[in-house]
Amino acid sequence: DTNKERFFIQAENIEREGVIGEGEFGSVYKGWLLTRNSTTGVDVRVEVAIKTLRDEHSNKKEFLREASAMIRLQHQCIVQLIGIAKDPENLMMVQELASLGSMLHFIINNSEQIRDCSEFKLWASQIAEGMNYLVSQHFVHRDLAARNILLASRRQAKISDFGMSRSLSTGSDQYTFTQGGKWPLRWYAPESFNNGIFSHASDVWSFGITLWEMWALGKPPYGEISNVDVIKLVDSGQRLPKPDLCPVNIYAIMNSCWNYSPKNRPTFAYLKEFFARTLDYQNLLEMA
Ligand code: ATP
Repeated sequence: DTNKERFFIQAENIEREGVIGEGEFGSVYKGWLLTRNSTTGVDVRVEVAIKTLRDEHSNKKEFLREASAMIRLQHQCIVQLIGIAKDPENLMMVQELASLGSMLHFIINNSEQIRDCSEFKLWASQIAEGMNYLVSQHFVHRDLAARNILLASRRQAKISDFGMSRSLSTGSDQYTFTQGGKWPLRWYAPESFNNGIFSHASDVWSFGITLWEMWALGKPPYGEISNVDVIKLVDSGQRLPKPDLCPVNIYAIMNSCWNYSPKNRPTFAYLKEFFARTLDYQNLLEMA
């Protein structure tokens, strides 16, 4: 079964280098994958990210669930899972490397250079495009946030972290979650934190919060306000304020994503078009 062979990578074909991040399950390394080019038959070394699982016993199920969700997804705007591997110590997820790391950290560390925000619209259009692809695959992400967007380059944002994602069953447009666990409440729509309901429309709410994080240059949404008070504030109709750098038309889009009623929020298809239309190609060419 070639699919299976592709999914399971021999550990001896992986070389690990330095740590590039800390995940919930274990460290993330930069490294290399030795592989054969299927067209030319030539052996090549590909730069990859390797996510390791620290405590195999307790988290193995979740780790494998994330991997099997990701392996089905193939899109320019989604971090590609190449396969999983196992050595005596670790279970590993081998992914396409997004060299610039998380968008959140990139924005925080480079806030001086990105004040004209032209990248933000490009990244927003790419995130919306990737999310629109997830809609077509009947997938809800449930953890869309600036920390979970990775940058392959200054011109390519990719959605990552499918640890919370769920595949919607045929004919259903929502998913009801009853189990506890760590919820990123500040990114959640009211129907999610009140009733455990997740849908493409609740992902749109999180997309709005992600936009806010971008134009607020990586500030945490709702600042010091406690989780309980964030819930009260959102339920009472209050919303995040306009970040200084944010144009009014984009703030209007954020607010439309935060419509209390899920059916009144825009779709990712609309958001993708909206941001594609706002792109200043001249500016993007100069950005290189
Ligand atoms: P959390 O749930 O706390 O967000 P996690 O277990 O889902 O963590 P990730 O967010 O996937 O872990 O990874 C942690 C960090 O490792 C990221 O913030 C990023 O800096 C880095 N990283 C993860 N995957 C990649 C990748 N494919 N390319 C480059 N860097 C990566």
